[in-house]
Amino acid sequence: MKLCAFIRPASLSAAHENLRELGREGMILAGGTALHFMQDHTPVTAVDIMSLGLSFIREEGDYYNIGATTSLADIQRYRAPRWAMHEICRRISTHQIRNISTIGGNICRVFPWADLPVILLAMDARMVIYTGSDEEEFPADEYFKEQPAKRFLDGNILTSVKIPQLKAHHGFGSIKVVRAEAAFAQVTIAALLELDGSTIKTARVAAGGAIPFPRRLPSVEAALGGQQANEETFKEAAAQADADVTWRGREGMTPEYSRHLAEVTIYDALERAAAFARGRNE
Ligand SMILES: Cc1cc2nc3c(=O)[nH]c(=O)nc-3n(C[C@H](O)[C@H](O)[C@H](O)COP(=O)(O)OP(=O)(O)OC[C@H]3O[C@@H](n4cnc5c(N)ncnc54)[C@H](O)[C@@H]3O)c2cc1C
Repeated sequence: MKLCAFIRPASLSAAHENLRELGREGMILAGGTALHFMQDHTPVTAVDIMSLGLSFIREEGDYYNIGATTSLADIQRYRAPRWAMHEICRRISTHQIRNISTIGGNICRVFPWADLPVILLAMDARMVIYTGSDEEEFPADEYFKEQPAKRFLDGNILTSVKIPQLKAHHGFGSIKVVRAEAAFAQVTIAALLELDGSTIKTARVAAGGAIPFPRRLPSVEAALGGQQANEETFKEAAAQADADVTWRGREGMTPEYSRHLAEVTIYDALERAAAFARGRNE
């Protein structure tokens, strides 16, 4: 993208109107870090949404509401009982990038290496989109079914992300494997377990990295439901790593190695989730 003009609207509705008028010649600008990867020369007018009051983290009922322009650094620093979002944020790129990048920017145009979609899929988050007259909510499964950028072509703006608060019987674990500090993920896995005593009631497991687009792993989840939360179950579930996806070779890895790494990482994320549920998370 080639930024040729810059607008800083005073309100959400003004931003929506600007974007509607500009059509394909307009572009929402949050942290602007994705421009590093969008290096075609299409001329666009940037509509800066950073001063619209969308930077916040609030506890609201049984979920956390994170404003779309909240930086990854602020999410990393935030603390609350059974808060789990900081774990992945501190593994994304560098301090400098995390200070500028926003949660909205990370999930409105999803790059293959994006880590937050993996987390939000496992956590069953809901995305709130301003449509000009209304706000609409989309569950993560629907929102990440395809490239979300398609949802924002007609002036719509992501305003916040709602993350269910983890209850005492919930455990969450996320692991990002990198070859070098601040690198893109070789594999990112996130797991949410709902336990009933030592039995797994429900499981949500999502993956990203060496696959084209972040997604859930239903065969892994099916191998967990109704089983005991122990090493044997986690091993059997992790062995389903390639039942739903074809792992690609990237970052110098062969496809076989990616698959193996995914299996090991799924196991580790499940162990971490179980430890979280038992109150042993750091
Ligand atoms: C060197 C480098 C390494 C990185 N490594 C990783 C990594 O390993 N893992 C990872 O997850 N991320 C990583 N990132 C960050 C990621 O790739 C994106 O650059 C970043 O998340 C975008 O956030 P932003 O706020 O800068 O968004 P912007 O660049 O401002 O916007 C990104 C896109 O989203 C749209 N958009 C932004 N906000 C909204 C909104 N509220 N509503 C609708 N559309 C919106 C914009 O129009 C644009 O298309 C890295 C970035 C860099 C520069």
